[in-house]
Amino acid sequence: MSKYYLFQDRKRCIGCYSCTIACKSNKNLLTGPKPVDIIPIGPTFIDGTPRAAFVLMPCFHCEDPWCVAVCPTGAVQKRTKDGIVFVDHALCIGCKSCMSACPWGAPQWNPETGKVVKCDYCKDRLDAGLKPACATICTTHCLQFGEANETPDVRRERYAREMVGL
Ligand code: SF4
Ligand code: SF4
Repeated sequence: MSKYYLFQDRKRCIGCYSCTIACKSNKNLLTGPKPVDIIPIGPTFIDGTPRAAFVLMPCFHCEDPWCVAVCPTGAVQKRTKDGIVFVDHALCIGCKSCMSACPWGAPQWNPETGKVVKCDYCKDRLDAGLKPACATICTTHCLQFGEANETPDVRRERYAREMVGL
C-alpha cells in the first residue's frame, strides 16, 4: 500500500461535496470524472431513527494494483518512493482496462481527453509540501491525510471518551 492514509471521519461528514469539487478543480476536470467522490447511503429508518451516511471513495493505492497489472502501455504506475498509484496521461491510450480491473471504480473516464484519470493523492501538491486538495478543503475537517503511522486515532479516542462518559 501507499505509505499514506486518507481517513474520513464519517460522523463528521455532512455531504457537502467540497472534497469532490476541490479534487476536480485541482485536476482541471469539467463535467464527468470524479477521482474522489462522496457516495450517499440512505436516508433510511433504523429502529425508528432516520440514518444516512456519506462515504468517501478515493483510490486505495493497493499494494499489488490490478489497474497497474492490466494497463497495456504502462500508463498506470506505482511510485517507488511512496506507493502512490498514478496515471501517466502521455502513455494512456484510453482502452479502459484499468476501469474494468479496479473493484472499486476508482479510475474514471475523462471525455475531454479520451483518457482515464484517477486519484493520485495530488502527488504534485505532496511533492510541493502540501496536502491533497480534498483534505485541505474539507469543511468539517473530517478528512485527515498523513503518513499511516502518524495519523491521529480519532475512532479509538472517541470510543475511549464514550466508555468513560466524557
Ligand atoms: S485504481 Fe483500483 S486497483 Fe488501482 S490502486 Fe486504486 S483501488 Fe487499487
Ligand atoms: S468536504 Fe468533508 S464534509 Fe464535505 S463531503 Fe467531503 S468529506 Fe464530507
